[in-house]
Amino acid sequence: MTYQWLIFDADNTLLDFTRSARIAFTETLRSIDLEPDGAFFEVYHQINVECWGDLEAGRISPEELKILRFSRFLDYLGKEGNPGEMNAYYFDVLKRSTFRVDGALDLLEALRPLGIPMAIATNGLAEVQRPRLEQAGIDHFFEEIIVSEEIGYFKPNPGFFHTTAERLRVQESDRILMIGDSLHSDIEGAQRAGWDTCWYNPNGDSHSLASSPSFIISRLHQLMEILT
Ligand SMILES: [Mg+2]
Repeated sequence: MTYQWLIFDADNTLLDFTRSARIAFTETLRSIDLEPDGAFFEVYHQINVECWGDLEAGRISPEELKILRFSRFLDYLGKEGNPGEMNAYYFDVLKRSTFRVDGALDLLEALRPLGIPMAIATNGLAEVQRPRLEQAGIDHFFEEIIVSEEIGYFKPNPGFFHTTAERLRVQESDRILMIGDSLHSDIEGAQRAGWDTCWYNPNGDSHSLASSPSFIISRLHQLMEILT
């Protein structure tokens, strides 16, 4: 299959966000003298997912998200605190605690000789996503890094995919492959934009999409089999 662009999601596709987020959350709680337990993370995670849902749907702004997720968590604890400070602390740790998904660096090194330009298209906040990609040592593989906060649209909003295509100066006839772990944000969004899709599905989940992803892989290196 010949593609003119490979567009990667970042979190939980190339970067192990779940691992980073657990560390950042744990250290943030310790910064307010709270010893974290597993249940706290699950509660925070659920709140964070809801806040991101509101952000992606345009109901709240990125600035509101930063405050809201920790103020809701403090409400859950019944504790006073400064959610803005907690978020800043969380971001600091997140930026320092970056891990690649297994096989990500090997994949990018194997892809480079194919000469297909690559980009990152990530839902996230610029102040954390760019340093994290740099710290992971993979930013130099990409022609462009598109961060949703910077362009004002979040996946799966069609505006995100349209603006990404414009930024990359993609031609109508170009073949684009979007590689990502999220059925909702990456796969459905890219399908609506008319792009081919590769669902990174390391846990072997099932899907109920109206139309199947073009490809499904459970390990990153399987992308090579699709492209060569
Ligand atoms: Mg992702």
